Formats: sequence, C-alpha cells, structure tokens
Amino acid sequence: MLAYVQKNVDSLRAEIPEDVTLIAVTKYHDDTETQAVVDAGVLDLGENKVQDLMGKMERIKGDIRWHFIGHLQRNKVKYLVGKVFLIHSVHSLELLKTIEKESQKKGVITDVLLQFNLAKEDSKSGFYAEDYAEVMDLVQTLSWVRVKGLMCIGPMTKNSDKIRKIFKQLKELYDTIKTKYHGRNIEFTTLSMGMTDDYPIAIEEGATMVRIGRKIFYQ
Ligand SMILES: *Cc1c(COP(=O)(O)O)cnc(C)c1O
Repeated sequence: MLAYVQKNVDSLRAEIPEDVTLIAVTKYHDDTETQAVVDAGVLDLGENKVQDLMGKMERIKGDIRWHFIGHLQRNKVKYLVGKVFLIHSVHSLELLKTIEKESQKKGVITDVLLQFNLAKEDSKSGFYAEDYAEVMDLVQTLSWVRVKGLMCIGPMTKNSDKIRKIFKQLKELYDTIKTKYHGRNIEFTTLSMGMTDDYPIAIEEGATMVRIGRKIFYQ
C-alpha cells in the first residue's frame, strides 16, 4: 500500500461526481504502483501500450476493468479482443473493420469508443467531426463491434476557453450521433474526456469517464 496513491485517489473521489467513472492511467508506472491503485479502490485502469497492458493483466490482482487508451495498430487488435473492457481510441475505418474481424473470430462483442481529433492537431489521431456520418455508416454494417460513445484528448494549451470549446464540441457531436443513430450495436452511454490538467472542465461539459494519470501518482 502506497500512502500517497491512497491519498490522491481519495481526494479525486471526493471531487469527482459519483456518476463519472475514474480511470487510473497507470502507463509509466510499475507493478507496485499499479497494484497500489487497485488496492486504493480504483478498478478501472488505463494503459496505452498493448504489451504493457497484457503483462499487467497477468500480474496485477483484482477485479479490474482494463481500458485501452493508446494508439492502436491493427496487427495488435487480436491481443485486446476478448480481454479489455473498452477500447477508447478507435481512430480509423480500417481499425473498426479489423476489430470486427477479430471479434467475430473469437465470438465476442468488443465495446469501443470513437476517438475524435476536433482541433485537427497533427500530433493526435482521431476522426474529424465532418467524418462522423461516414464512420457511422460503417458502424451500422458491423455485428461484433459495439460503439458505446466518443473519446477525445483535450488540446495542448493552457487556455481553458479553448479546452472547454473542444469538450463542448465533443458533447454536441455525442448528442447528435446518439439522437440520429439507433442500432443494435450503437449504445451511447460513454463520453471519455478529461485528464490531469483538464478533467474539471471535462466534467462540467458532460464527461462520463475521466482518464487520470499524473494526479494519482503525485508525491
Ligand atoms: C497519458 C494519458 C492520460 C493521462 O494523462 P495525465 O495527464 O497523466 O492525467 C489520459 N488519456 C490518454 C489517452 C493518455 O495517453
């Protein structure tokens, strides 16, 4: 048990509304620190590398829901299907098709979020807002992929108005898609946005999941 992890988790829990899921992002942290997060009561863990996630999945003890939040290559999809609770970072049509194929092979439904890059930053992956109809056209042809909502990474800026604008846009897009599209594999419940520097804004703008790394491990 690491006291600083417990303390940080407790203060985050006190701050985050009960209906918002706290995902502890444990990338960059070893097994001892990762286990401390679970022991502090957080069962949703996020990793951004397939290899790291698979290793920790074997070693970390607890009833953990694993979230994949990193850039996903198509040749690694097979390692995640049937193992992770949610893939947050689906950023291309080809990736959707690969997840469909691998999920069908294993006979499991894979829950995913569509990642959007609303500010069109070169450093980030994700669909552009104007692509959403094309994406949803493909989604409606799939049987083994279930789309649970949207995800974004806030823009790289300290300007909170700019950050808020992007989160507002993602929420609007989320509401638009949720209203327009109905299908057995479209089940919008989840809006994943907000990290250490911007989660309070994300929650104000409607996030249902926040992904927090650094603030859990501050000493
Ligand atoms: C690293 C990471 C986080 C956590 O970021 P912090 O700033 O450490 O809270 C959240 N989401 C994604 C996609 C990340 O890569």
